[in-house]
Amino acid sequence: MRGLMMDDPLLITQIMRFAERNFPTSEIISVSADPEPHRYTYAEAFWRARRLANALARLGATPGDRVGTLAWNDHRHFELYYASSCSGAVCHTINPRLFPDQIAYIADHAGDRWIFADPMFAPLLDGLAPRLPRLERVVFLCGPERMPASTLPEAIDYETLIGAETDDYDWPLLEETTASALCYTSGTTGHPKGVLYHHRSTLLHAYAACMPDCMNLANRDTVLAIVPMFHANAWCLPYACPMVGAHLVLPGPRMGDPAALTELIQDEQVNCSMGVPTVWLGLLQYLQDSGREIPSLERIVVGGAACPPMLIEAFEQRHAVRVHHSWGMTEMSPLGVFNSPTRVSESLTPPEREAIGRKQGRGVFGVEMRIVDDDGAELPWDGEQPGGLQVRGPWVCGSYFHSDDDEAHGADGWFDTGDVATIDPLGFMQITDRSKDVIKSGGEWISSIELENLAMSHPGVAEAAVIAIADPKWSERPLLVVVRKPGAAVDAEALIEWYKGKVADWWIPDTVRFVDELPHTATGKLAKAQLRRQMAESA
Ligand code: ADP
Repeated sequence: MRGLMMDDPLLITQIMRFAERNFPTSEIISVSADPEPHRYTYAEAFWRARRLANALARLGATPGDRVGTLAWNDHRHFELYYASSCSGAVCHTINPRLFPDQIAYIADHAGDRWIFADPMFAPLLDGLAPRLPRLERVVFLCGPERMPASTLPEAIDYETLIGAETDDYDWPLLEETTASALCYTSGTTGHPKGVLYHHRSTLLHAYAACMPDCMNLANRDTVLAIVPMFHANAWCLPYACPMVGAHLVLPGPRMGDPAALTELIQDEQVNCSMGVPTVWLGLLQYLQDSGREIPSLERIVVGGAACPPMLIEAFEQRHAVRVHHSWGMTEMSPLGVFNSPTRVSESLTPPEREAIGRKQGRGVFGVEMRIVDDDGAELPWDGEQPGGLQVRGPWVCGSYFHSDDDEAHGADGWFDTGDVATIDPLGFMQITDRSKDVIKSGGEWISSIELENLAMSHPGVAEAAVIAIADPKWSERPLLVVVRKPGAAVDAEALIEWYKGKVADWWIPDTVRFVDELPHTATGKLAKAQLRRQMAESA
């Protein structure tokens, strides 16, 4: 028998309508290309989103068209999130920190018809535009006075674009599975892959994020979103904050600048914030060096890479800031687990509580999780045996965008995360290793395969492997291990020089080690796990 409740679809549009009505005075404070921080209310933001939706229609946007963004966390990017998704288009956030070749690949694969870009990316886009045949126009996220010099035909500034429009726009009633946003992940071995979120997945995920044992977001909060809006939708903050009417603080291009973050926290009385470990380590160091304090900050969420235990101790003991470790993936919108205490964990001894607090966290309702052995058999939640971590749920990726692989998950419907983990009897998951061959440095992916291929194109190199090594500041850095060709005298300096101009500077390995041979599996593949062990033992 069918239930008799209303059939209203779950749409991002509802967040907008609700916030406009219920929280007209809640604010978005944003650092952008403009000299002063910008400050306005959700009501004003959504009023401008309607003008932008009219502008997109005038540009010829039709349902499903991809609207690319190459932008930091600021108010115009926020408006783009809503105007594109809620008008039926897809907001495609591109990571500007990627190497130009990767950006070209991603924008071309996505088929972006327009790119809305921070003015600082004008030279980058000048170079990329000839490689993007489907790109029709670039819109710079500024007013006419800050329009950058550009060779792009018909480039226009955002304020002029939306200034020509009215705020009279009727948001269409979409189906809840309509695509809303697209984000490419490079955390894979091949080309970056597109994860295509829909309205329903986004709404359910934002609901879950607000729950008390998760981010615990409420109207009284002032949230600083340090995690970039091109990183899995800033972990959903642009949706969750207006859902509850929290103030949202967007640090623009200053997200890696601890002095600027300190000022924003102090000026706006920020009480919670989210970001990767590298950002928090930088902030801790700055606070220590400058003697400045951030008393308003009550809690932070640390994810994207393993949170070092010293970070938890330093924030909790020196600054009285509660640290919540969390784990997720772009393919999971990204929320997977979140670390907050349970009734039982609270009753344990202080050392036991501390050990649990360091784990990545426990499941959030909406994500099912299991660990399996090499044969796919499920392992117990005993906190001892590690296994391949698999997930499923309504905000987990089913298939990648325009991909040859039909499905992102296995035949039994579980998505294999490529992470290896234990789960304890209380449900706390801990990442112990990674089976996927990738490196994550400062919260961003580095492709080991690309670095290996480049090294092997050097005339003095017979074979090369790139593995992650632990790094106190960046979580991980690439280590290049090389077998020289007989008679070749190539050294570390020459190889580092070889990479320059071929990959982003931050990808280039800091260290090169030379060996007589590399370990291989029975099928002749590089035995990366064995190599990691060897390198750790001989370090
Ligand atoms: P995001 O950076 O938004 O978490 P990505 O898709 O870029 O999403 O990266 C996901 C991967 O990052 C995970 O599969 C895992 O390998 C790693 N990761 C994310 N969070 C953590 C964490 N808390 N601890 C250890 N590894 C993590």
